[in-house]
Amino acid sequence: MSRLNEECGVFGIYNNRDAAALTALGLHALQHRGQDACGIVSCDGSNFYSEKKIGLVGDNFTKGKVLKNLPGNFAIGHNRYSTSGNNTIKNIQPFFADLHSGGIGISHNGNLSNALYLRNELVKDGSIFQTTSDTETIVQLIAKSKRPKIIDKIIDALFKIQGGYALTILTNNKLIGIRDPYGIRPLVIGKINKSYVLASETCALDIIGAEFVRQVDNGEIVIITDSGLESLKPFPKLKERPCIFEYIYFSRPDSMIKNVSVYEYRKKLGAELAKESNVKSDLIIPVPDSGMPAAIGYAEKIGKSIELGIIRNHYVGRTFIEPTQQIRSLGVKLKHSINKALVRNKSIILIDDSLVRGTTSVKIIKMLYDCGAKEVHLRIASPPIKYSDYYGVDTPNKKELLAFKYDLEGMRKFINATSLAFLTIEGLYKAMGFDKRKSTYPQFTDHCFTGEYPIDPIDANNKNLEESKISFMSSKN
Ligand code: AMP
Repeated sequence: MSRLNEECGVFGIYNNRDAAALTALGLHALQHRGQDACGIVSCDGSNFYSEKKIGLVGDNFTKGKVLKNLPGNFAIGHNRYSTSGNNTIKNIQPFFADLHSGGIGISHNGNLSNALYLRNELVKDGSIFQTTSDTETIVQLIAKSKRPKIIDKIIDALFKIQGGYALTILTNNKLIGIRDPYGIRPLVIGKINKSYVLASETCALDIIGAEFVRQVDNGEIVIITDSGLESLKPFPKLKERPCIFEYIYFSRPDSMIKNVSVYEYRKKLGAELAKESNVKSDLIIPVPDSGMPAAIGYAEKIGKSIELGIIRNHYVGRTFIEPTQQIRSLGVKLKHSINKALVRNKSIILIDDSLVRGTTSVKIIKMLYDCGAKEVHLRIASPPIKYSDYYGVDTPNKKELLAFKYDLEGMRKFINATSLAFLTIEGLYKAMGFDKRKSTYPQFTDHCFTGEYPIDPIDANNKNLEESKISFMSSKN
């Protein structure tokens, strides 16, 4: 059973006459964060407008079609990434609710680790839920708060929720951005002329020509109104611990995190991998597109260049988007084909950013052998993923993780590689610019590799909650 809310992209813009169109562009740049569905809520200062669509932004939010239904100078948007069975219109964000204090739209990237617990409590207390998304728990908590001002209602809700979240919230006169106390999920602030912009990544600022102002701090609430930007920090101060997977896989290579491009980080991961586990080979081939920067860094380190031995068909979504294992396997075949003339009789170093269930590796290695490759040495530019994530990365069930099921040799056999090596956790931290994992403090949340969770996964540890969710979901679908 998959969780309700996964890795997604959020956007928001305040006071711009092209608010909805710029939001659509921002979401288009963030499309890699979720391709299942997308939505925009706009506001003209008194009324709110909402459009939600299954599928890609570019296919749905075009001028002639939907954008004309989204007037107003304020807008927020959301790209949704979901798993099995949950991709219904009702679950598409931004959510909108008419509260006692006025209308509110909300977009959420991340996952709450106590949403089911809170949901049960709210239902016992009379709340009626309309969706299966953990984001609705936030809306219900905001609605329940007895404090008169919307911002205080939101703060009340924030003190109850746990997990990873980056939120963009729209009222009739405010755009609000929030990052969880550890800053697990990203959120940045930009400016285009006089309009403030909020986005999951800087690539969404670039597409609309907005300049980067700064990132929202961990545990920070930014409130954008006609008087400018105000910052609140209601939580006790914690050291930021962003999700390491943003660097390894999720963020787009041209996005900047702390003044360094994600591309540069990934090249360094590849270079470190080469230092740790290079072998003699004829060709270095990346798994496109996600393995590309690490492969470039790897090849550079050993004085070689990469070869495009695998060609990607860009008109198929990410493998993970497919809901069942069977379709997922098919997805890999649709997505990749082999440059046969290049690989025949060659020994190959194959490089990918991460290995999760092993689906991609099994298919690609088989395809390489079928095309005459002599040896395939798989090198992964991150450590083995042995633990589930509860804060917004789609690795929900430990039992599906290859590195949980097998040791290194078991994994090698399963994927049928000549040899297999992962970047070590020490290598990962070195590549990220730290001596050791704990030289000062765990600088990231890296629980996928270490099992060290910064926040107790309350829902996952409570089987009864899990069961109540299942009965709820099956009665809906
Ligand atoms: P798998 O095929 O299950 O081993 O997954 C690994 C492939 O999926 C790699 O090519 C990654 O680039 C990509 N990947 C890794 N983590 C995720 C994730 N959480 N969601 C979607 N794709 C991912």
